[in-house]
Amino acid sequence: MTRIVLPGLVDVHTHLRVPGGEHKEDFASGTAAALAGGITTILAMPNTTPPLSTPEVLAATRETAAATIRCQVGLFAGASPAHLGRLAACAPYAVALKIYLNDTFGSLRVEELPDLQRCFAEWPREKLIAMHAEGQSVAVGISMAAIYERPVHFCHISRRDEIELIAAAKERGLPITCEVTPHHLFLTKADAARLGPLGDMRPRLVEQSDVDALWAHIDDTVDCIATDHAPHTLAEKHSASPPPGVAGLETSLPLMLTAVHNGRLTLERLAELIAANPRRIFGLPPQPDTRVEVETDAAYTIENQNLYTRCGWTPFAGMEVRGKVLKVILEGRTVFEEGRVTAEAGSGRLVMDRSNFS
Ligand SMILES: [Zn+2]
Repeated sequence: MTRIVLPGLVDVHTHLRVPGGEHKEDFASGTAAALAGGITTILAMPNTTPPLSTPEVLAATRETAAATIRCQVGLFAGASPAHLGRLAACAPYAVALKIYLNDTFGSLRVEELPDLQRCFAEWPREKLIAMHAEGQSVAVGISMAAIYERPVHFCHISRRDEIELIAAAKERGLPITCEVTPHHLFLTKADAARLGPLGDMRPRLVEQSDVDALWAHIDDTVDCIATDHAPHTLAEKHSASPPPGVAGLETSLPLMLTAVHNGRLTLERLAELIAANPRRIFGLPPQPDTRVEVETDAAYTIENQNLYTRCGWTPFAGMEVRGKVLKVILEGRTVFEEGRVTAEAGSGRLVMDRSNFS
């Protein structure tokens, strides 16, 4: 048996559904799923109900989180055209700002140029801006980074033309970073047809040539692997209007370690993508005495019944993978062992970015 040790993983793109969607996931269930997947820090997305777009909602959500999280959690503020005047007031409660330029789950979306300009002018410069941008919107995000001379992080890049544009922007020295998700690295349109609503998310699954392009850039242009864990119940997924999004916290590390086993990237590179890079890009504090012990030899099958996420399903069910998490130590405490999450709800900590520690 080969046992490897990794640093605590950082997932910069998780939907924990608090407030307003607790029947799909809450802080206690979502952070349990994170720990079962070897993830010790997560950044929670703001497209909740109501969205995390005012200081009041952010403060109340931080309070709920503090009482119920099992690992380290930071919150995104969400840019909402209705509340742009409160952007600066949101900043003390959030690690970064999320701007949605394209279609997603929920109502958060910035569609007008003056609103986008206001986000870039008013969000504090020492804090990051992350964007959901697809297609031509990637070019808009790159130009905003160039004009305002401030970093922009692109969420879940999925297509060949997008990753190539980001590679070109980086070559010119622009302050651009990006993440890709395991579902965009392992699934295509053909899987979407097979999975139906369980294979529907934003951005959608695309062609094999797009998947190939993401892998071709895994050693240079891609900065982070992020899960875009976006749980919905099976009843919602099988309803007349199924919402987009799939779970991902518990399957990301085994999928990526399977890719290492198959020679698609090195273990050293994987550690950069899942821990060092996201921590540096978002300015997150270090986690001393934190490690993830993983068994990498034996193949096993992903099963829905073993999941901690409240939604209880994954599009990867039935897939054979390698890389079983054996034990997770978070700042000196054993928080996952022998298939069981042992961290109590409320034992995790809220984190901020480095701008709050100077
Ligand atoms: Zn998302």
